[in-house]
This record gives sequence, structure tokens and C-alpha cells, in this order.
Amino acid sequence: MDLGLNGKTVVVSGGAKGIGAAVTALLIEEGANVVVLDKDVVSGEVMAERYGKQLRFIETDLSDEKSCIEAVEKIRSTKGLIYGIVNNAGRNDGIGLKGGTYQQFLRSIESNCGHYFLLVQLLLDDLKKSEGSIVNISSKTALTGQGGTSGYVAAKGAILSLTREWAAELAPDNIRVNAVVPAEVWTPLYESWLNTFPNPVEKKKEIENRIPLHHRMTTPQEIANTVVFLLSARSAHTTGQWIHVDGGYVHLDRSLT
Ligand code: NAP
Repeated sequence: MDLGLNGKTVVVSGGAKGIGAAVTALLIEEGANVVVLDKDVVSGEVMAERYGKQLRFIETDLSDEKSCIEAVEKIRSTKGLIYGIVNNAGRNDGIGLKGGTYQQFLRSIESNCGHYFLLVQLLLDDLKKSEGSIVNISSKTALTGQGGTSGYVAAKGAILSLTREWAAELAPDNIRVNAVVPAEVWTPLYESWLNTFPNPVEKKKEIENRIPLHHRMTTPQEIANTVVFLLSARSAHTTGQWIHVDGGYVHLDRSLT
């Protein structure tokens, strides 16, 4: 199936590792050009080397407004019209009711969702001209809670609401906005979180048992397949949706564990 993304330019935040890297790889396979915004310079440069002309890596601290503005200026100076944005960078930073301060809570919301707003705002003229598509990565924790992580969960919930809000606001411009909601995806971030437990192997098995379909984690490629479909015109009449790619984790009966 031709997704019609050949030659189009898509910005992927947090595209140097994990889910973002899988999205980047698939977009490149589809013939798109990708701009990766990420603070991991080593991984970003490895990707730039691997994908050559189709990928531009821009070192960016997405939790810093100035850094985002500078990144967008660099995009403008070298790339054509931006067709898509994949807002993906985020981190479950564990700022909760117990132990987290009010300032840390606000900072967590800002660093997990402020750049989603900022990138869309800064690139809006491009998206209007290209009648583009936005995909926001949220988290199942926005809907299920997790405990101990108020800031991250507030941000991920806001991302779902913003998906609806922007889909409504931008429909007259023919810009589509959708969210993908992962649950348990095997990425570097996930692995480092798992390693905080006394027995990571046992903990991983316990989590996998709770995933109804296949009793395994979702792969980053499986998330990427849905993200890229939502970016493409193959989903031309889909907007404002929250798509769960999670092996049934959030919606199916608990007895299936
Ligand atoms: P990952 O493996 O850590 O990859 C994310 C990339 O984004 C990393 O290179 C990271 O750099 C970068 N990044 C994060 N915050 C940044 C910032 N403020 N500025 C610049 N770069 C930043 O993460 P992932 O597991 O693929 O997660 C991607 C998204 O999916 C996140 O929004 C996460 O909340 C969401 N998600 C993941 C899961 C899961 O199971 N993995 C589940 C639900 C939702 P550093 O490594 O240097 O921080």
C-alpha cells in the first residue's frame, strides 16, 4: 500500500531512540524526509549517519522554549514545507503527591507537554499550507493512572485533550490531529525504568502477563505502523482520535491475564 508520504517532510520529537526512532525509520522507508529533534546527540548522529540525506538531526532541549524556537529556525533554513509533526518526546519522571514539590509538578507538565503545543504553534503556517497531519503520543497512564507520577499523567491527559481541541480548531484548515496511546512498549526508557526494580526479569514477566494479546510488550515498530498510517492520507477522514496500540491492555477484561 502506497502511503503517499514520498518526499514529504515530517518532524519527529524524541526521534533518536525508542518509539520515535522506529517512527523515523518507517517514515524513511516510505520515502519521507525526517527532522529529528532530540537531546541525545550520540543516538541522533548515529541516525543521521545511517539515513543520510533523508534525515536531519537537530540537537534540541524540548523542555526549553528557546531551544525549540532555534530548532524551528534551523528547519526553516534548510527544509521545504513541513507536512507532519510527531509529538513524541516525554519521560515518566515520577513527580507525585508524595515527595514531589509543586514546582517539580509544574516543570514535569511543562517538559512533557509544553513542547507539543510549541512545535505545533511554530509550524502551523507550514501545516496549513501542506494540509498536514499531527500525531501526538500519549500514554495509557492518562486513562488508568499509575500512582506516584502526577506531573507525567497530567501532561499525558492534557495531550489527549489537546488532540481533540486541535482537531476541532484545525479542521477548517484540513489539518488532522490524532493521538496514539501506548501502554507497555519495549524501549530504552522502559528498560531503564524496569532496571530500578530489585528483580527486573520477574517484573517484566509480571507485566507481560497482564497484556491480553500474546502476553508480550508492544514493539516500537508496532506503534510506528499506526503513527505513520495516521500521518498518511490513507487515514484522510480520521481526526481527533485516540488510538490504543497496546495488545488490549487498557480495554479488555482483567480475567484475560
Ligand atoms: P525513549 O526510549 O527514552 O526515547 C525518547 C527519546 O526522546 C530519547 O532519545 C530522549 O532523550 C528524548 N527526549 C525525551 N525528553 C526530551 C526533551 N525534553 N528534549 C529532547 N529530547 C528528549 O522513550 P520511549 O519509551 O520511546 O517513549 C516515547 C514516548 O512514548 C514518550 O512520550 C513516552 O511517555 C511515551 N510512552 C512510552 C511507553 C513505553 O512503554 N515505552 C508507554 C507509554 C507512553 P534522553 O534519552 O537523552 O532523555
